[in-house]
Amino acid sequence: MIYLDHNATTEPAPDVVEAMLHTLRHHWANASSPHDPGQQSKRALGAARTRVAQALGCKPTEVVFTSGATEANHLALNGLLQAARVGRRRVVLSAVEHSGLLRLGATLAHQGVTVDLVPATPEGLPDMAAAAEMLGPDVAVVSLMAANNETGVLMPVAAMAELAHRAGAVLHVDATQWVGKLPLHFGEWGVDALSLSAHKFHGPKGVGALLLRQGVPFQPPWPGSQERGRRAGTENLPAIVGMATALELCSNDLPAEVRRVGALRDALEQGLAGALAQGVHVWGQGVPRLPGTSLWRTGEVHADVVLQRLSRLGVAAASGAACASGGSQPSHVLRAMGVPDAQALAAVRFSLGRATTAADVAAVVSGLPPLLPLA
Ligand code: PMP
Repeated sequence: MIYLDHNATTEPAPDVVEAMLHTLRHHWANASSPHDPGQQSKRALGAARTRVAQALGCKPTEVVFTSGATEANHLALNGLLQAARVGRRRVVLSAVEHSGLLRLGATLAHQGVTVDLVPATPEGLPDMAAAAEMLGPDVAVVSLMAANNETGVLMPVAAMAELAHRAGAVLHVDATQWVGKLPLHFGEWGVDALSLSAHKFHGPKGVGALLLRQGVPFQPPWPGSQERGRRAGTENLPAIVGMATALELCSNDLPAEVRRVGALRDALEQGLAGALAQGVHVWGQGVPRLPGTSLWRTGEVHADVVLQRLSRLGVAAASGAACASGGSQPSHVLRAMGVPDAQALAAVRFSLGRATTAADVAAVVSGLPPLLPLA
């Protein structure tokens, strides 16, 4: 199998599995228990927290472990909104956020919160002039992803942080697709909250974190004593240790991996552009993107056709976000970018990563074009 769907999920690294098995066997006691085994789990939890903090450039106390990015996003928006000063009941989201976050926005709107969407430019970036106009004194929280899961386009996080802070609001960043693929230093980004999910960087599923800048007002949406009162529920220690291990593994050789994967992605795009009768259109090609992500179409050949041919070649790819795959609706991201439906329905996403080799790229470039219809 040629796996070109790293943005959907990644295979747990062998060292991650080993670290998790060790923790399952030896540190199964509750980290909140005062007895000896409990205190050992507590120490293991603290050690994992320090490793995560070191890899992400934050303080250990700024790490709140969650069950993944979905929960981290919910925790962030609800907790930051509830802690906002009286009179601040507006939330501003970019129109190209992950579908889960946009659905959360719809739920908040249903609860009486005003939710505004920052429109996207044709490149898939937020329209910053529109964002500036939206950011008034009634805004509590702004949320912008670090990198888009479909196009791979990198978002102007620092500029949005400046706009949000000037308006007296806080900025939450969904960095689910960034972490493990590009370097991150939370302390230097100047953002208030940041979500991540371990299975996107060769860690286990069902674990992630919300980084909360020290001192940022936060009202936990549900009460509990764990995670300094910010996230209730017994910590999933084996998964947390797995995540810490995965983060360290990614951090070790990140600059070299960024270059390697970026070159493979470029070779894939150029190879297909030259070999396909109708050429390829790549979204976001003119702006900075994640090194391994390519969202493309050839003419208006439906993505289902392309994916079926890829599957014949033994290639696993996607027509966009895994959460939306299988649906016949065009991607909300491409729609927000003003792409006509017939083109959006032709969108195929390759997401390359650590498992990808030059041989994989060569197999797709030589194998796919002969299988595709000419028009
Ligand atoms: N945000 C983004 C940008 C994502 O790509 C994903 C996963 N597709 C999520 C949030 C949700 O992550 P999880 O399902 O691990 O909670």
